[in-house]
Amino acid sequence: MAFESLTDKLQDVFKDLRSKGRLTEADVKVALKEVKMALLEADVNFKVVKQFVKSVEERAIGQDVMNGLNPGQMVIKIVNEEMTSLMGSETQELQFQPGKATTVIMMCGLQGAGKTTTTAKLAGKFKLKGKKPLLVACDIYRPAAIEQLQINGEKQQVEVFSMGTSHSPVDIAKAAMEHAEKNGNNVVILDTAGRLHIDEGMMEELQKIKQAVTVHQTLLVVDAMTGQDAVNVAKEFDEKVGIDGVILSKMDGDTRGGAALSIKAVTGKPILYVGMGEKLSDLEQFYPDRMASRILG
Ligand code: GDP
Repeated sequence: MAFESLTDKLQDVFKDLRSKGRLTEADVKVALKEVKMALLEADVNFKVVKQFVKSVEERAIGQDVMNGLNPGQMVIKIVNEEMTSLMGSETQELQFQPGKATTVIMMCGLQGAGKTTTTAKLAGKFKLKGKKPLLVACDIYRPAAIEQLQINGEKQQVEVFSMGTSHSPVDIAKAAMEHAEKNGNNVVILDTAGRLHIDEGMMEELQKIKQAVTVHQTLLVVDAMTGQDAVNVAKEFDEKVGIDGVILSKMDGDTRGGAALSIKAVTGKPILYVGMGEKLSDLEQFYPDRMASRILG
């Protein structure tokens, strides 16, 4: 189960806090030290942890909290609020172009992150909103990726645009835009190629697509199981290509929590959705407050 170890450790700290009628400054400091350790072990970015603990401490060590009726409970509440704020506070909705204008979304991510699956999951969500999505196979390096997109598109009953492997991704993206215009697709989702590692060629290709067609939303899919690596990937993509939001896949797995807790704080970009399984319906909107409550147990 996700966050199990982090949740268990935080629960232990909270139990100690609740059991005390009064809290001294030292009690709070000891508790926060344990919170800090638990977050670091969950692979949360070091700077993020430091800032987080500082924010909680500044609010918790004060007359109001310490002399309050239920100081332990107050500290727990502060931890919850600060954790929610760390993940962006408000739920961020994916922004569509107004009116009848077509929204172009470019999906990117490392190979295996869950990009192609997530593309199809999103298409299903948009269809429910009354949109008419077009999925575009821009991964010309892996014929299997094109086929996977076609199979998933079929399952979702959304159209897939493909030109095989002999055209450049830029040409495919341009042709897809013309196709969308003719066919009345008001959302175009470009499924781009992933690599095993970030490389210059990959970034250049994404930049070229962005120069050739107007991309309204660049979404990055990262694997929650990879912890801080996911955060580093997000940072790098944002610096090189520019991203608007992150989708955290495989949150149904045994993730420790580091990616969910660090991405917004490190990159400034919100998590929009979380992948909760392999099925095409397993994509959920990301709610920072609910996620914090889930982590805190
Ligand atoms: P891509 O290379 O980034 O396009 O990755 P794929 O979409 O092919 O996904 C790689 C693997 O991860 C596949 O086996 C997917 O079924 C699986 N996967 C994708 N998203 C999730 C998720 O949210 N949860 C789980 N458990 N598996 C996922």
